[in-house]
Order: sequence, then structure tokens, then C-alpha cells
Amino acid sequence: MDRLVELESISFEEESSEVSLRPSIWDEYIGQEKIKKNLRVFIEASKKRDEALDHILFFGPPGLGKTTLSYLISNEMGSNIKVTAAPMIDKSGDLAAILTNLEEGDILFIDEIHRLSPAVEEILYSAMEDYRLDIIIGSGPAAQTVKIDLPRFTLVAATTRAGMISNPLRERFGMHFRMQFYSNEELAKIVFQASQKLNKISHDDASLEIAKRSRGTPRVALRLLRRVRDFAEVENEDMINLTRCSYGLDQLGVSETGFDEMDLKLLELLLSNKGRPMGLSTISAALSEDEGTIEDAIEPYLLANGFIERTARGRVATVKSYELFRLTPPIQDKASEGNLF
Ligand code: ADP
Repeated sequence: MDRLVELESISFEEESSEVSLRPSIWDEYIGQEKIKKNLRVFIEASKKRDEALDHILFFGPPGLGKTTLSYLISNEMGSNIKVTAAPMIDKSGDLAAILTNLEEGDILFIDEIHRLSPAVEEILYSAMEDYRLDIIIGSGPAAQTVKIDLPRFTLVAATTRAGMISNPLRERFGMHFRMQFYSNEELAKIVFQASQKLNKISHDDASLEIAKRSRGTPRVALRLLRRVRDFAEVENEDMINLTRCSYGLDQLGVSETGFDEMDLKLLELLLSNKGRPMGLSTISAALSEDEGTIEDAIEPYLLANGFIERTARGRVATVKSYELFRLTPPIQDKASEGNLF
């Protein structure tokens, strides 16, 4: 399904546009204050010691600014960055080729790190810990291990699935950061800043309106901004005002609560189950959406904002959802395990 808030698949056009809107200095990176503050201290310290920065792991749903942070880190360190994603590293040889091409102090960014195959992950262990590649050449009794020294690089990895990272891999990262959803005010700042870069200034109230409908996610906010800008352009307007903005967002079917079609479908499904928990596989079948997308891209926002809860037996809609849809929450059956109401 073509979702306006689809976070996982980015079109080529969008990717190039994201690059031009991507903050290139720390001050343009809005929010995530704690992460920024810590990172700047660690960067400063490693620069003073003239050492490579410790390996960094970012957790969080797509579109919250993990890749952008990696670029900022490399800028600040004055080092090169090589960007890749785990699904592109098929074989051990692919990883070996990437690692041996790095230079001292380089940043290697691997997105979706939870998708590395065990064989490739194994190679990464010694590369991260000892800056050494152990490659086995040949097989059987004639097999030989070749050791190759690597430059001191920094691995910055991102994942949408904290639970899917193996312990040995997780332990090799010196720093772990969990990304937070953004407040409406932060998103409004991001929208305004991007509108300046697009040469179509967005009024404060229009920026806030886009922010409110962006599910706490910069990538969604920027996507909506670009669409609203199109509406303003067609009408020959120099700026983005609230009227055009609300009109455009309504035309695009983005609801005032910020929910998109998939959020609404998931909520309706859970509400119709009247307080009984529903398992992920049932939800996946009912929505014709794969479990990974539901867990990575749809649920986190609804969970973080208290619209749904995870129980041992599955997902349930909370009282907040019932109230939002003006429905009466079901009376909790004492024998059930929902423990929600
Ligand atoms: P992720 O890697 O988490 O999927 P990205 O770093 O690709 O997310 O961010 C998506 C887009 O949102 C980028 O184009 C970037 O310009 C913008 N963005 C993300 N976080 C911020 C932020 N804190 N301030 C300004 N823009 C941001």
C-alpha cells in the first residue's frame, strides 16, 4: 500500500530530496537533546585523545534521524563516512571488501544491522574489537586462517529492532542510543527549517499543522511539507499558509490526529476485538501487512503515545483509543489477563 507515512521504502526522488534537506551542522539537528549532548562530549574526548570514536548503536523506528546523526558525527570528526545497509552485505567477502577499503578514523554506517547473516556478523566481532579480519581460506584440513590488520574505524549501526540484535554484537558497541519520537514543536522547527531550504517559507501555524500530523517523525513531516508545497506552487503562492496547508493535508487524507490509514486500520481492528488481546500474526493477516512492518513502522508510534498496549497475549487498544473514537471501553473481565482497564 502507498502510505504517506510509509517509513521503510523511500523513493529515489525522495532520497535525493532528503539529502538536500539533511542537516549538515549540529544546530540544524533539532531535538534528541540528550543524545546530541552525549555524542558531542564523546566526540570531543576522542578528538583530544586523537583516537577513533567508540562504536555506536542507534535504536529506533525509521525516519527519526539515525542516518543524519551518523553524517553529523563524521563531519564533526572530520572523517569519511561509508554508508551501507545489512541486506547489501550478503557474504563475508562483501564485508571484508568494505572493511579493507576503510581508512584510519573512517565511519562505517550500517543500517538495519539486525539483518546481518550470522556468518557476516561473526567477522564483524574481531573487526570491531581488535581491528582485525580473520578470514578462512579453503576448506577441510587445508583451510588456513589469514589475519589482516584493519585501520581503527568507527562502526555506527542503526536498527529498528532492539530485540533482534544478538548479545555478542550488542556488547561490542561502546555507546547505545535510543531515539525518541519528536514533539510537535520540534517537528514544526524542522518543517520551518526545511521550508527555508525549499525557498517556500512555511508560516508558524502551517508548520505546526504539518507537525501535528506527522506521527512524531521528521521523515513524515518533510514528506508532507513537500506535498503541501506542491499545492502552494500550483496556486502561485510564495509562502505556505495555514489554509493551503490544511486543505492540502485533507486532500492527501492525513487525519488531524496524525494517524494515517494503516494506523486507523490497526486501531479499528483492535477496538473491534473489545478488549481481547490480538496476536501479531492475526493482525498481520487481517491487515495484509507483514509482521516486521507492523512492529517497526506502525506500532511504535501508537505504543509510545499510549493508544495501544502489548500484553503477554497480544495487542489491545487502550482506554485512550476508545475515548478518541467515542466508544465505551469494555468492562474488564476479571478472568482475562488484559490488565488494561
Ligand atoms: P533514519 O536514518 O532514522 O531512518 P534519517 O536520518 O534518514 O532517518 O532522517 C530522515 C529525514 O529526516 C532526513 O532527511 C533528515 O533531513 C530529517 N531529519 C531527521 N532527524 C532530524 C532532526 N533531528 N532535525 C532535522 N531534520 C531531521
